[in-house]
Amino acid sequence: MGMAKPSGGVKKVYGPYGRNIKEIINETPNSRIDYYDEKTGKLLQQRWFDADGKAVWDRDWDHNNSNNTHIFPHDHYWIWDNPVHPERPEYKGPNGENTNLSYC
Ligand SMILES: [Zn+2]
Repeated sequence: MGMAKPSGGVKKVYGPYGRNIKEIINETPNSRIDYYDEKTGKLLQQRWFDADGKAVWDRDWDHNNSNNTHIFPHDHYWIWDNPVHPERPEYKGPNGENTNLSYC
């Protein structure tokens, strides 16, 4: 079900380093939010929204890595089985990839 380029457009938001994009529901269908560090202008995170405007995919470009366990960029996907507490596990592709290139 890849999304190619978001037909609903891309919104830029700025905020502090170390945070996630706040928006998870009620966004423009099939859109993407790009989150930038308000001080450095560096891209920190991208989030894709599905046809219902719900978060479906994240790409993390930078966040706290004090344990040195993260490789950047890496992806997370959203599981909405429990709509009150959606899960956001880290993605691993069939060949061990950290990103899914059908999201772009
Ligand atoms: Zn992450």
